[in-house]
Amino acid sequence: MRKISAGLVAAGLVLSLAACGQSANGVGDGAAKADAKGGLVGIAMPTKSSERWINDGTNMVKEFQAKGYTTDLQYGDNVVENQVSQVENMITKGAKLLVIAAIDGSSLTNVLQKAADAHIPVISYDRLIRGTANVDYYATFDNYKVGVLQGGYIADKLGLKDGKGPFNIELFAGSPDDNNAGFFFKGAMSVLKPYIDKKKLVVRSGQTDFNQVATLRWDGGLAQSRMDNLLSKSYTNAHVDAVLSPYDGISIGILSSLKGVGYGTAKSLPIVTGQDAELASVKSIIAGEQTQTVYKDTRQLAKVAVQMGDAVLTGGKPEVNDTSQYANGVKTVPAQLLQPVSVDKDNYRKVLVDSGQYTADQLK
Ligand code: BGC
Repeated sequence: MRKISAGLVAAGLVLSLAACGQSANGVGDGAAKADAKGGLVGIAMPTKSSERWINDGTNMVKEFQAKGYTTDLQYGDNVVENQVSQVENMITKGAKLLVIAAIDGSSLTNVLQKAADAHIPVISYDRLIRGTANVDYYATFDNYKVGVLQGGYIADKLGLKDGKGPFNIELFAGSPDDNNAGFFFKGAMSVLKPYIDKKKLVVRSGQTDFNQVATLRWDGGLAQSRMDNLLSKSYTNAHVDAVLSPYDGISIGILSSLKGVGYGTAKSLPIVTGQDAELASVKSIIAGEQTQTVYKDTRQLAKVAVQMGDAVLTGGKPEVNDTSQYANGVKTVPAQLLQPVSVDKDNYRKVLVDSGQYTADQLK
C-alpha cells in the first residue's frame, strides 16, 4: 500500500513537472524530466504574441508525448537573448533533440555549437536556421508559394491578367532576420513585378525593395505607423487599391491605419492579403475588411517535425521532399515542405471549418 502511494506521488510529481514544462514562459523553469522511454525534447518557439506559434508548440507537445517523449516548451518573447538562453538550458537539462523556430535565424550559431558538442540533433521549425552546419533537418511550408498565393490573389482580384489597371499598391514584407520573409516577398513579387514594370501597378511611395518594406519582428504596430506615413505622404489625393501584407498581424495594423483615414466608410478598403488564418483575421475577412489570408495547417507541420525528430532519434531516415532550396549559408538543409492554401470569404468554411481548424461558433 505504502509503495503504491509513493509511486502515485512520484508519478504526480513527474506529471506536474511535465505540465510545468509545457506552459512555462521563462528561462530556467519548466524542466520536464527525461523519462526512460523517449527522452527530453526541447522545443523553442519565438513568441506567444501570435496564435500560430502557441498552436505549433501545443501541437508538438501533444505529438511528442504520444510517442513517449517528454517536452520542454519555451517561448522567447521575440527577444533573441531569451531564446539563446532557453536553448542553452535545454542542452544543460539533457535534451535529446532540439526543435527550434528561430527569432533571428542567424543568432544561434554559438548555442548550436554547444548542442553539436553534446551530440544533440536539431530540427529547424518553420524558419530556417542560418549560418551553421549544426542543423539537421527543416520542417516548413513551401514559403515561396505563400508569396505567390498572396501576389496571385491581388493580380486576380484586380483583373490584371485581363488588362485592367493601373491600380495603386503598397508593399509590406516580414522581418528581415527571418529567412521566410525573403521567400514570401520574392514569391509575391514574381507575380506583381511584371505588372509594376508595365505600370499596371503603381507603387506611389516608390518603396519596392525588400529592405524598404520589411517589418522588424513582424510587428503590426510598426506596420501601422509605416502605413500612416505612406497614406499621408502619397495618398492624400489618391486611393490605395491593394496592399501586399505578408502576415495577419501586419494586415491588422495596416487596416487600422486605413480605417483611420476613412477607408471602409468614406471610401472602399483596398485588397489586403495576409498569412496564418489567425482567428481575428478570419473574422475580419468574414466582416469584409481583410480580403485574404494564407492558411498553413500547423497541426500537419507539428506532425512532420515530430516524425523527423523521432526518426533521427531512433535511427530512421526522416522523409524530405526538398534538398535544394534551403541553403543556410553553410549547408543546404534537407526539408519537408507542406502546401499553403489561399483563403478568402468564398472558401473559408471549406478550408477552415470543414478541416476542424475552427468551429463555426468560433468564427461568429
Ligand atoms: C512564419 C509565418 C508567420 C510569421 C510571423 C514566419 O516565419 O512562417 O507563418 O506569419 O513568421 O510570425
